[in-house]
Amino acid sequence: MNFLDAVLSLFRSDTEDFYYVKIERNEKCYCNSGKKYKSCHYPKHYQSSKRAVRKISESTGEETFQVLSVKKIRKNHELFKPSVIQS
Ligand SMILES: [Zn+2]
Repeated sequence: MNFLDAVLSLFRSDTEDFYYVKIERNEKCYCNSGKKYKSCHYPKHYQSSKRAVRKISESTGEETFQVLSVKKIRKNHELFKPSVIQS
């Protein structure tokens, strides 16, 4: 493996080590208010064309919350998995 391949493989594994799951409107809001997303942050996000998502690490399962623009979500749709939580 040459140097460039090594760098590229590092970059690839780094970027493909996670996936996103959208937070459904009926799920609890990510901000720990205890309210559902649709009656908490969702209206605000909707107005600014943003959505809250979970970013989940493939290797550790560690979850972080992110607010992404709808545009970015569409652009990265292949990184999204369907939510397993039944609403
Ligand atoms: Zn909230």
